[in-house]
Amino acid sequence: MLFRGFIRGFSGFKGGIHPPENKFFSEGKEFSYISIPHTCFIPLQQHLGKPAKPVVEEGQSVEEGQLIAEADGFISANVHSSVPGKVAGIRSHPTVYSTRTQCVIIETEGAFSATSKTSQVENWETLSREELLSRIKDAGIVGLGGAAFPTAVKLSPPQGKTIDTLIVNGAECEPYLTVDDMLMRTFPGEILEGIRVTMKVLGVDKAIIGIEKNKPEAIANLKHAITENKLSHSIALVALQTKYPQGAEKQLIKALLGREVPSGGLPMDVRAVVQNVGTIYAIREAVLFKKPLYERYITVSGPIVQKPGNYKVRLGTRISDILDEIGGLTEEPAKVIMGGPMCGIALDSLEIPIVKGTSGILFFGKKNVYNDAYLPCIRCGRCVSACPAGLLPCDLSVAVERGMNDALEALKPFDCIMCGSCTYVCPSRRPISHFIKLGQQRLKSRSAAK
Ligand code: SF4
Ligand code: SF4
Repeated sequence: MLFRGFIRGFSGFKGGIHPPENKFFSEGKEFSYISIPHTCFIPLQQHLGKPAKPVVEEGQSVEEGQLIAEADGFISANVHSSVPGKVAGIRSHPTVYSTRTQCVIIETEGAFSATSKTSQVENWETLSREELLSRIKDAGIVGLGGAAFPTAVKLSPPQGKTIDTLIVNGAECEPYLTVDDMLMRTFPGEILEGIRVTMKVLGVDKAIIGIEKNKPEAIANLKHAITENKLSHSIALVALQTKYPQGAEKQLIKALLGREVPSGGLPMDVRAVVQNVGTIYAIREAVLFKKPLYERYITVSGPIVQKPGNYKVRLGTRISDILDEIGGLTEEPAKVIMGGPMCGIALDSLEIPIVKGTSGILFFGKKNVYNDAYLPCIRCGRCVSACPAGLLPCDLSVAVERGMNDALEALKPFDCIMCGSCTYVCPSRRPISHFIKLGQQRLKSRSAAK
Protein backbone atom coordinates (compact mmCIF):
# COMPACT_ATOMS: atom_id res chain seq x y z
CA MET A 1 0.00 0.00 0.00
CA LEU A 2 1.43 3.32 -1.12
CA PHE A 3 0.24 5.19 1.98
CA ARG A 4 1.15 2.61 4.65
CA GLY A 5 3.32 4.34 7.25
CA PHE A 6 3.36 7.50 5.17
CA ILE A 7 0.57 9.70 6.51
CA ARG A 8 1.40 10.77 10.02
CA GLY A 9 0.70 13.39 12.49
CA PHE A 10 -3.04 13.16 13.06
CA SER A 11 -2.36 14.80 16.42
CA GLY A 12 -2.05 18.03 14.43
CA PHE A 13 0.27 20.91 15.26
CA LYS A 14 1.22 22.84 18.38
CA GLY A 15 -0.71 25.97 19.37
CA GLY A 16 -3.74 27.18 17.45
CA ILE A 17 -7.14 28.40 18.61
CA HIS A 18 -10.84 27.59 18.34
CA PRO A 19 -12.66 30.78 17.33
CA PRO A 20 -16.46 30.53 16.75
CA GLU A 21 -16.86 29.06 13.26
CA ASN A 22 -19.84 31.18 12.24
CA LYS A 23 -20.10 29.26 8.99
CA PHE A 24 -23.85 28.79 9.38
CA PHE A 25 -24.62 32.01 7.46
CA SER A 26 -23.60 30.47 4.12
CA GLU A 27 -22.93 26.80 4.91
CA GLY A 28 -24.51 24.40 2.44
CA LYS A 29 -25.88 27.18 0.23
CA GLU A 30 -25.53 26.18 -3.38
CA PHE A 31 -23.57 28.41 -5.74
CA SER A 32 -25.47 31.27 -7.39
CA TYR A 33 -24.19 33.48 -10.18
CA ILE A 34 -23.58 37.18 -9.76
CA SER A 35 -24.61 38.99 -12.99
CA ILE A 36 -21.95 40.24 -15.33
CA PRO A 37 -21.18 43.85 -14.31
CA HIS A 38 -21.55 46.89 -16.60
CA THR A 39 -17.98 47.89 -15.81
CA CYS A 40 -15.09 45.69 -14.68
CA PHE A 41 -12.01 46.98 -12.84
CA ILE A 42 -9.32 44.39 -13.48
CA PRO A 43 -6.07 45.01 -11.55
CA LEU A 44 -2.72 44.34 -13.21
CA GLN A 45 -1.48 43.17 -9.82
CA GLN A 46 -3.58 40.26 -8.54
CA HIS A 47 -0.71 38.02 -7.55
CA LEU A 48 2.55 37.97 -5.62
CA GLY A 49 5.42 39.27 -7.71
CA LYS A 50 5.62 41.89 -10.44
CA PRO A 51 2.41 43.41 -11.86
CA ALA A 52 1.46 42.16 -15.34
CA LYS A 53 2.20 44.42 -18.37
CA PRO A 54 -0.88 45.62 -20.29
CA VAL A 55 -1.14 44.41 -23.89
CA VAL A 56 -4.34 46.33 -24.74
CA GLU A 57 -5.04 50.04 -25.25
CA GLU A 58 -7.85 52.40 -24.41
CA GLY A 59 -10.70 52.08 -26.94
CA GLN A 60 -9.75 48.53 -27.97
CA SER A 61 -12.44 45.85 -28.10
CA VAL A 62 -11.72 42.70 -26.10
CA GLU A 63 -13.28 39.27 -25.91
CA GLU A 64 -14.25 37.35 -22.81
CA GLY A 65 -11.10 35.58 -21.59
CA GLN A 66 -8.74 37.56 -23.84
CA LEU A 67 -5.24 38.26 -22.51
CA ILE A 68 -5.14 41.91 -21.44
CA ALA A 69 -1.87 41.95 -19.50
CA GLU A 70 1.04 39.52 -19.66
CA ALA A 71 3.24 38.20 -16.89
CA ASP A 72 6.30 40.41 -16.43
CA GLY A 73 9.13 38.19 -15.24
CA PHE A 74 9.39 34.81 -13.53
CA ILE A 75 7.16 35.62 -10.53
CA SER A 76 4.17 37.26 -12.18
CA ALA A 77 0.93 36.09 -13.84
CA ASN A 78 -1.13 36.73 -16.97
CA VAL A 79 -4.37 38.69 -16.55
CA HIS A 80 -7.44 38.17 -18.79
CA SER A 81 -10.61 40.09 -19.49
CA SER A 82 -13.55 38.72 -17.53
CA VAL A 83 -16.11 40.21 -19.93
CA PRO A 84 -16.38 41.09 -23.62
CA GLY A 85 -16.30 44.85 -24.10
CA LYS A 86 -14.28 47.97 -24.72
CA VAL A 87 -11.25 49.15 -22.76
CA ALA A 88 -12.42 52.41 -21.17
CA GLY A 89 -8.99 53.16 -19.75
CA ILE A 90 -5.99 51.87 -17.85
CA ARG A 91 -5.78 53.88 -14.65
CA SER A 92 -5.51 53.64 -10.89
CA HIS A 93 -8.40 52.43 -8.79
CA PRO A 94 -8.60 51.25 -5.16
CA THR A 95 -8.00 47.53 -4.68
CA VAL A 96 -7.36 45.23 -1.74
CA TYR A 97 -3.63 45.74 -2.31
CA SER A 98 -3.48 49.54 -2.39
CA THR A 99 -5.58 52.67 -2.70
CA ARG A 100 -4.09 53.18 -6.16
CA THR A 101 -3.52 50.04 -8.27
CA GLN A 102 -3.36 50.20 -12.07
CA CYS A 103 -6.51 48.56 -13.46
CA VAL A 104 -7.75 47.80 -16.96
CA ILE A 105 -11.29 49.19 -16.94
CA ILE A 106 -13.62 47.37 -19.33
CA GLU A 107 -17.15 48.44 -20.22
CA THR A 108 -19.18 45.36 -21.06
CA GLU A 109 -20.60 45.09 -24.58
CA GLY A 110 -20.75 42.64 -27.49
CA ALA A 111 -21.02 38.88 -27.65
CA PHE A 112 -20.11 36.38 -24.96
CA SER A 113 -17.79 33.89 -26.61
CA ALA A 114 -17.35 31.56 -23.62
CA THR A 115 -20.43 31.91 -21.38
CA SER A 116 -23.00 29.16 -21.83
CA LYS A 117 -20.96 27.49 -24.59
CA THR A 118 -20.01 23.84 -24.27
CA SER A 119 -16.29 23.70 -23.74
CA GLN A 120 -14.04 21.50 -25.81
CA VAL A 121 -12.66 18.88 -23.42
CA GLU A 122 -9.09 17.82 -24.06
CA ASN A 123 -7.57 14.46 -23.21
CA TRP A 124 -4.95 15.86 -20.88
CA GLU A 125 -3.38 12.46 -20.24
CA THR A 126 -1.66 12.62 -23.64
CA LEU A 127 -0.03 15.98 -22.82
CA SER A 128 3.51 16.26 -21.51
CA ARG A 129 4.37 17.84 -18.15
CA GLU A 130 5.70 20.92 -20.01
CA GLU A 131 2.47 21.26 -22.03
CA LEU A 132 0.36 21.02 -18.86
CA LEU A 133 2.51 23.58 -17.08
CA SER A 134 2.34 25.95 -20.03
CA ARG A 135 -1.50 25.83 -20.01
CA ILE A 136 -1.53 26.61 -16.27
CA LYS A 137 0.85 29.53 -16.85
CA ASP A 138 -1.05 30.85 -19.89
CA ALA A 139 -4.32 30.80 -17.92
CA GLY A 140 -2.85 33.05 -15.22
CA ILE A 141 -3.62 30.60 -12.40
CA VAL A 142 -2.50 31.72 -8.94
CA GLY A 143 -3.15 30.33 -5.45
CA LEU A 144 -6.85 30.89 -4.84
CA GLY A 145 -6.68 30.32 -1.09
CA GLY A 146 -5.65 33.95 -0.69
CA ALA A 147 -1.87 33.97 -1.14
CA ALA A 148 -2.14 34.42 -4.94
CA PHE A 149 1.34 33.00 -5.61
CA PRO A 150 1.70 32.12 -9.34
CA THR A 151 0.84 28.42 -9.57
CA ALA A 152 3.14 27.57 -12.51
CA VAL A 153 6.09 28.78 -10.41
CA LYS A 154 4.99 26.76 -7.39
CA LEU A 155 4.71 23.67 -9.58
CA SER A 156 8.26 24.14 -10.92
CA PRO A 157 10.60 23.31 -8.02
CA PRO A 158 14.21 24.26 -8.75
CA GLN A 159 16.77 21.62 -9.69
CA GLY A 160 17.91 19.60 -6.71
CA LYS A 161 14.53 19.77 -4.94
CA THR A 162 12.59 16.50 -4.99
CA ILE A 163 8.86 16.49 -4.34
CA ASP A 164 7.18 13.25 -3.22
CA THR A 165 3.71 14.44 -2.11
CA LEU A 166 1.03 16.82 -3.29
CA ILE A 167 -1.03 18.10 -0.36
CA VAL A 168 -4.47 19.41 -1.24
CA ASN A 169 -5.67 22.00 1.21
CA GLY A 170 -9.39 21.62 1.88
CA ALA A 171 -9.12 22.68 5.52
CA GLU A 172 -10.87 26.05 5.13
CA CYS A 173 -10.13 26.82 8.77
CA GLU A 174 -11.06 30.52 8.65
CA PRO A 175 -14.41 31.30 10.33
CA TYR A 176 -17.33 32.34 8.05
CA LEU A 177 -15.80 31.04 4.77
CA THR A 178 -17.62 28.13 3.13
CA VAL A 179 -16.61 28.39 -0.52
CA ASP A 180 -14.07 25.53 -0.47
CA ASP A 181 -16.53 23.34 1.43
CA MET A 182 -19.13 23.92 -1.32
CA LEU A 183 -16.57 23.30 -4.09
CA MET A 184 -15.70 19.93 -2.55
CA ARG A 185 -19.37 19.01 -1.99
CA THR A 186 -20.38 20.06 -5.50
CA PHE A 187 -17.42 19.06 -7.69
CA PRO A 188 -15.65 16.07 -6.08
CA GLY A 189 -14.94 14.35 -9.43
CA GLU A 190 -13.57 17.54 -10.99
CA ILE A 191 -11.32 18.13 -7.98
CA LEU A 192 -9.94 14.60 -8.21
CA GLU A 193 -9.19 15.14 -11.90
CA GLY A 194 -7.45 18.43 -11.07
CA ILE A 195 -5.40 16.58 -8.46
CA ARG A 196 -4.35 13.98 -11.04
CA VAL A 197 -3.31 16.74 -13.46
CA THR A 198 -1.27 18.44 -10.71
CA MET A 199 0.33 15.13 -9.68
CA LYS A 200 1.46 14.60 -13.28
CA VAL A 201 2.96 18.11 -13.41
CA LEU A 202 4.87 17.45 -10.18
CA GLY A 203 5.81 13.89 -11.14
CA VAL A 204 4.49 12.47 -7.84
CA ASP A 205 2.45 9.33 -7.20
CA LYS A 206 0.85 10.43 -3.91
CA ALA A 207 -1.62 13.13 -2.99
CA ILE A 208 -3.28 13.72 0.37
CA ILE A 209 -6.41 15.83 0.74
CA GLY A 210 -6.71 17.41 4.20
CA ILE A 211 -10.20 18.53 5.27
CA GLU A 212 -11.31 19.70 8.71
CA LYS A 213 -13.85 17.37 10.37
CA ASN A 214 -16.48 20.12 10.40
CA LYS A 215 -17.15 19.46 6.68
CA PRO A 216 -18.70 15.97 6.75
CA GLU A 217 -20.49 16.26 3.38
CA ALA A 218 -17.33 17.35 1.56
CA ILE A 219 -15.46 14.45 3.19
CA ALA A 220 -18.17 11.94 2.27
CA ASN A 221 -18.50 13.15 -1.34
CA LEU A 222 -14.76 13.11 -1.98
CA LYS A 223 -14.31 9.71 -0.31
CA HIS A 224 -17.07 8.31 -2.49
CA ALA A 225 -15.48 9.82 -5.62
CA ILE A 226 -12.05 8.39 -4.69
CA THR A 227 -13.55 4.90 -4.38
CA GLU A 228 -15.74 5.23 -7.48
CA ASN A 229 -12.77 6.37 -9.60
CA LYS A 230 -10.51 3.65 -8.10
CA LEU A 231 -7.96 6.23 -6.93
CA SER A 232 -7.38 5.07 -3.37
CA HIS A 233 -3.93 3.72 -4.31
CA SER A 234 -2.72 7.26 -5.07
CA ILE A 235 -5.06 9.77 -3.40
CA ALA A 236 -5.80 9.67 0.34
CA LEU A 237 -8.22 11.82 2.30
CA VAL A 238 -7.56 12.75 5.92
CA ALA A 239 -10.20 14.30 8.17
CA LEU A 240 -8.33 16.84 10.29
CA GLN A 241 -8.97 18.21 13.74
CA THR A 242 -10.99 21.46 13.53
CA LYS A 243 -8.48 24.01 14.76
CA TYR A 244 -7.29 27.34 13.41
CA PRO A 245 -4.87 27.73 11.49
CA GLN A 246 -5.13 24.12 10.28
CA GLY A 247 -5.01 25.36 6.64
CA ALA A 248 -1.68 27.16 6.96
CA GLU A 249 0.85 25.36 4.75
CA LYS A 250 3.42 24.52 7.40
CA GLN A 251 0.78 23.38 9.91
CA LEU A 252 -0.95 21.22 7.30
CA ILE A 253 2.32 19.53 6.36
CA LYS A 254 3.09 18.89 10.04
CA ALA A 255 -0.40 17.50 10.64
CA LEU A 256 -0.41 15.22 7.58
CA LEU A 257 3.20 14.17 7.09
CA GLY A 258 4.77 14.87 10.47
CA ARG A 259 7.45 16.94 8.68
CA GLU A 260 8.65 20.32 10.00
CA VAL A 261 9.34 23.00 7.40
CA PRO A 262 12.59 24.60 8.67
CA SER A 263 12.74 28.23 9.81
CA GLY A 264 12.88 30.42 6.70
CA GLY A 265 12.19 27.36 4.51
CA LEU A 266 9.47 26.33 2.08
CA PRO A 267 7.26 23.20 1.81
CA MET A 268 9.49 21.96 -1.02
CA ASP A 269 12.34 21.73 1.55
CA VAL A 270 10.40 18.80 3.05
CA ARG A 271 9.44 17.34 -0.34
CA ALA A 272 5.85 18.66 -0.35
CA VAL A 273 3.80 21.07 -2.46
CA VAL A 274 0.51 22.40 -1.09
CA GLN A 275 -2.36 23.56 -3.34
CA ASN A 276 -5.74 24.85 -2.25
CA VAL A 277 -8.81 22.96 -3.59
CA GLY A 278 -9.97 26.09 -5.45
CA THR A 279 -6.64 26.26 -7.25
CA ILE A 280 -6.89 22.57 -8.12
CA TYR A 281 -10.33 23.22 -9.64
CA ALA A 282 -8.95 26.15 -11.69
CA ILE A 283 -5.95 24.05 -12.83
CA ARG A 284 -8.34 21.46 -14.24
CA GLU A 285 -10.31 24.10 -16.15
CA ALA A 286 -7.10 25.66 -17.51
CA VAL A 287 -5.81 22.30 -18.74
CA LEU A 288 -9.00 20.64 -20.00
CA PHE A 289 -10.73 23.69 -21.48
CA LYS A 290 -7.82 26.14 -21.88
CA LYS A 291 -9.92 28.42 -19.69
CA PRO A 292 -8.17 31.50 -18.30
CA LEU A 293 -8.81 32.50 -14.69
CA TYR A 294 -11.39 35.26 -15.17
CA GLU A 295 -14.04 34.18 -12.66
CA ARG A 296 -14.05 32.43 -9.30
CA TYR A 297 -16.27 31.23 -6.45
CA ILE A 298 -16.46 33.29 -3.26
CA THR A 299 -18.37 33.42 0.04
CA VAL A 300 -20.31 36.58 0.90
CA SER A 301 -21.17 36.51 4.59
CA GLY A 302 -21.43 38.24 7.94
CA PRO A 303 -24.19 39.19 10.38
CA ILE A 304 -25.45 42.19 8.38
CA VAL A 305 -25.69 40.60 4.91
CA GLN A 306 -29.26 40.22 3.56
CA LYS A 307 -28.46 37.16 1.45
CA PRO A 308 -25.26 35.49 2.62
CA GLY A 309 -24.16 32.67 0.34
CA ASN A 310 -21.63 31.21 -2.05
CA TYR A 311 -21.41 32.96 -5.39
CA LYS A 312 -19.63 32.69 -8.74
CA VAL A 313 -18.38 36.08 -9.77
CA ARG A 314 -16.35 37.63 -12.60
CA LEU A 315 -13.00 39.06 -11.50
CA GLY A 316 -13.11 42.85 -11.55
CA THR A 317 -16.70 43.04 -10.26
CA ARG A 318 -16.91 45.70 -7.54
CA ILE A 319 -18.21 44.79 -4.08
CA SER A 320 -20.92 47.45 -4.49
CA ASP A 321 -22.22 45.64 -7.62
CA ILE A 322 -22.43 42.36 -5.68
CA LEU A 323 -24.30 44.00 -2.81
CA ASP A 324 -26.77 45.61 -5.22
CA GLU A 325 -27.55 42.21 -6.63
CA ILE A 326 -27.92 40.26 -3.38
CA GLY A 327 -30.11 42.75 -1.56
CA GLY A 328 -27.45 44.76 0.28
CA LEU A 329 -26.88 45.02 4.01
CA THR A 330 -29.21 45.44 6.99
CA GLU A 331 -27.17 48.39 8.33
CA GLU A 332 -24.14 50.55 7.54
CA PRO A 333 -21.04 48.35 7.72
CA ALA A 334 -18.59 49.11 10.53
CA LYS A 335 -16.05 46.69 9.03
CA VAL A 336 -15.66 45.02 5.64
CA ILE A 337 -13.04 42.29 5.22
CA MET A 338 -11.75 40.63 2.06
CA GLY A 339 -10.86 37.04 3.00
CA GLY A 340 -11.46 35.49 6.41
CA PRO A 341 -11.70 37.42 9.68
CA MET A 342 -8.33 36.09 10.93
CA CYS A 343 -6.06 36.61 7.90
CA GLY A 344 -8.18 38.85 5.68
CA ILE A 345 -7.67 42.52 4.89
CA ALA A 346 -10.00 45.28 6.16
CA LEU A 347 -11.29 47.45 3.31
CA ASP A 348 -12.20 51.13 3.27
CA SER A 349 -14.23 51.19 0.04
CA LEU A 350 -17.01 49.16 -1.55
CA GLU A 351 -15.61 50.13 -4.97
CA ILE A 352 -12.83 47.57 -4.52
CA PRO A 353 -13.09 44.74 -7.09
CA ILE A 354 -12.97 40.97 -6.61
CA VAL A 355 -9.54 39.63 -7.54
CA LYS A 356 -8.03 36.17 -8.05
CA GLY A 357 -7.14 35.81 -4.36
CA THR A 358 -10.58 36.79 -3.00
CA SER A 359 -12.03 33.83 -1.10
CA GLY A 360 -14.77 35.88 0.52
CA ILE A 361 -16.17 39.25 1.53
CA LEU A 362 -17.41 39.67 5.10
CA PHE A 363 -19.54 42.50 6.48
CA PHE A 364 -19.88 43.43 10.15
CA GLY A 365 -22.06 45.99 11.93
CA LYS A 366 -21.20 48.33 14.78
CA LYS A 367 -21.98 45.86 17.54
CA ASN A 368 -19.79 43.15 15.97
CA VAL A 369 -16.62 45.26 16.01
CA TYR A 370 -14.29 46.21 18.90
CA ASN A 371 -12.72 49.62 18.72
CA ASP A 372 -11.28 49.81 22.26
CA ALA A 373 -7.72 51.05 22.69
CA TYR A 374 -5.21 48.32 23.43
CA LEU A 375 -3.43 48.03 26.80
CA PRO A 376 0.10 47.09 27.93
CA CYS A 377 1.12 43.42 27.94
CA ILE A 378 0.35 41.70 31.26
CA ARG A 379 2.67 38.73 30.53
CA CYS A 380 -0.19 36.23 30.71
CA GLY A 381 1.44 33.98 28.08
CA ARG A 382 -1.77 33.22 26.17
CA CYS A 383 -0.29 34.42 22.88
CA VAL A 384 2.72 32.10 23.36
CA SER A 385 0.47 29.07 23.89
CA ALA A 386 -1.62 30.02 20.83
CA CYS A 387 1.26 30.65 18.43
CA PRO A 388 1.52 27.73 15.95
CA ALA A 389 4.95 28.93 14.83
CA GLY A 390 6.51 28.59 18.30
CA LEU A 391 7.29 32.32 18.56
CA LEU A 392 7.08 34.77 21.47
CA PRO A 393 4.41 37.14 20.10
CA CYS A 394 4.36 39.24 23.29
CA ASP A 395 8.09 39.96 23.09
CA LEU A 396 7.89 40.58 19.34
CA SER A 397 5.15 43.18 19.81
CA VAL A 398 7.03 44.93 22.61
CA ALA A 399 10.28 44.97 20.57
CA VAL A 400 8.44 46.64 17.68
CA GLU A 401 6.68 49.11 19.98
CA ARG A 402 10.00 50.16 21.55
CA GLY A 403 11.97 50.22 18.28
CA MET A 404 14.41 47.53 19.51
CA ASN A 405 15.38 46.24 16.07
CA ASP A 406 18.23 43.93 17.06
CA ALA A 407 16.08 42.25 19.72
CA LEU A 408 13.27 42.02 17.18
CA GLU A 409 15.48 40.27 14.62
CA ALA A 410 16.59 37.70 17.22
CA LEU A 411 12.92 36.82 17.85
CA LYS A 412 12.54 35.54 14.22
CA PRO A 413 9.63 37.75 13.05
CA PHE A 414 9.86 36.29 9.52
CA ASP A 415 8.74 32.90 10.86
CA CYS A 416 5.38 34.48 11.69
CA ILE A 417 2.65 33.19 9.34
CA MET A 418 0.36 36.16 10.15
CA CYS A 419 -2.40 33.86 11.38
CA GLY A 420 -3.60 36.39 13.99
CA SER A 421 -4.07 33.75 16.72
CA CYS A 422 -2.00 35.83 19.16
CA THR A 423 -4.12 38.94 18.57
CA TYR A 424 -7.30 36.89 18.99
CA VAL A 425 -6.38 35.54 22.45
CA CYS A 426 -4.74 38.67 23.92
CA PRO A 427 -6.75 40.01 26.90
CA SER A 428 -5.07 43.40 26.47
CA ARG A 429 -6.38 43.53 22.87
CA ARG A 430 -2.90 44.19 21.58
CA PRO A 431 -2.74 44.19 17.74
CA ILE A 432 0.21 41.80 17.90
CA SER A 433 0.21 40.48 14.32
CA HIS A 434 -0.07 44.06 13.05
CA PHE A 435 3.01 44.96 15.14
CA ILE A 436 4.89 41.99 13.71
CA LYS A 437 4.05 42.99 10.14
CA LEU A 438 5.34 46.47 10.91
CA GLY A 439 8.49 44.96 12.42
CA GLN A 440 9.06 42.84 9.29
CA GLN A 441 8.80 45.95 7.09
CA ARG A 442 11.20 47.82 9.38
CA LEU A 443 13.81 45.05 9.21
CA LYS A 444 13.46 44.79 5.43
CA SER A 445 14.05 48.55 5.06
CA ARG A 446 17.02 48.34 7.45
CA SER A 447 18.69 45.57 5.44
CA ALA A 448 17.95 47.38 2.13
CA ALA A 449 19.66 50.51 3.50
CA LYS A 450 22.84 48.60 4.52
S1 SF4 B 1 3.14 35.47 16.10
FE1 SF4 B 1 2.51 35.17 13.99
S2 SF4 B 1 2.37 32.94 13.76
FE2 SF4 B 1 2.40 33.39 15.97
S3 SF4 B 1 0.23 33.51 16.53
FE3 SF4 B 1 0.90 35.59 16.07
S4 SF4 B 1 0.37 35.89 13.91
FE4 SF4 B 1 0.31 33.66 14.29
S1 SF4 C 1 -1.58 37.59 25.28
FE1 SF4 C 1 -1.33 39.81 25.29
S2 SF4 C 1 -1.13 40.32 27.46
FE2 SF4 C 1 -0.84 38.11 27.30
S3 SF4 C 1 1.41 37.86 27.10
FE3 SF4 C 1 0.59 37.98 25.03
S4 SF4 C 1 0.75 40.15 24.50
FE4 SF4 C 1 0.94 40.01 26.69
